[in-house]
Amino acid sequence: MVQKEFKAESKKLLDMVINSIYSKREVFLRELISNASDAIDKIYYRALTDDNISFNKDDYFIKIEANKDTRTLKVIDTGIGMTKEELESNLGTIAKSGSFNFKNENEIKDGYDIIGQFGVGFYAAFMVADTVTVTTRSIDSDEAYKWVSQGSDGYTIETSEKSDIGTEIILEIKENTEDDNYDEFLEEYQLKQIIKKYSDFIRYPIKMDVTES
Ligand code: ADP
Ligand code: MG
Repeated sequence: MVQKEFKAESKKLLDMVINSIYSKREVFLRELISNASDAIDKIYYRALTDDNISFNKDDYFIKIEANKDTRTLKVIDTGIGMTKEELESNLGTIAKSGSFNFKNENEIKDGYDIIGQFGVGFYAAFMVADTVTVTTRSIDSDEAYKWVSQGSDGYTIETSEKSDIGTEIILEIKENTEDDNYDEFLEEYQLKQIIKKYSDFIRYPIKMDVTES
């Protein structure tokens, strides 16, 4: 398996995202949930124009699974998924789409607003995770793929197993340090608060499951 490097400008941007753009770490969850919601929108619109796909609203949801023992937080969606090529182009190049195109109608209040305009949302995951694994199967592919990255060192992509169409993102949540507490991103109550604060408007159900021994 070949380790691929992010493009040079992506590396810099990734460092920026992790270290300075966001004012609050918790917004990573908002970014992942909004991507999940976008992915479900895409399958929904596909269903409107493709008679072979039926859109049954109950089958489409976002699921958050936290496990304190393994220190993992999963964000699962039943959206359109990504092909290998899409994984490569969407997650291999930071801020590829619409990069640095400011949307003037959005007033910049803090880092959070800037991020929406840069379109680097996914990488916010690295503010709270050492390793991010994305397992995905596209509606256009019979195979599933797994993208793994520890941040600015780059990423790997390999074939994987996934029976359903959609995407599962696993964050290996950082250990606490003297200055920073990451445990809150594994706590049901905290997660609920964050979801309520940033994702109240999401049109699909957000389910949650928190495990501790
Ligand atoms: P943006 O959402 O502004 O395009 P992101 O960094 O948040 O930027 O995501 C980059 C791209 O990765 C998205 O545009 C989308 O194509 C793809 N992507 C991210 N998360 C998912 C997901 N859960 N399902 C399908 N595609 C996704
Ligand atoms: Mg996004």
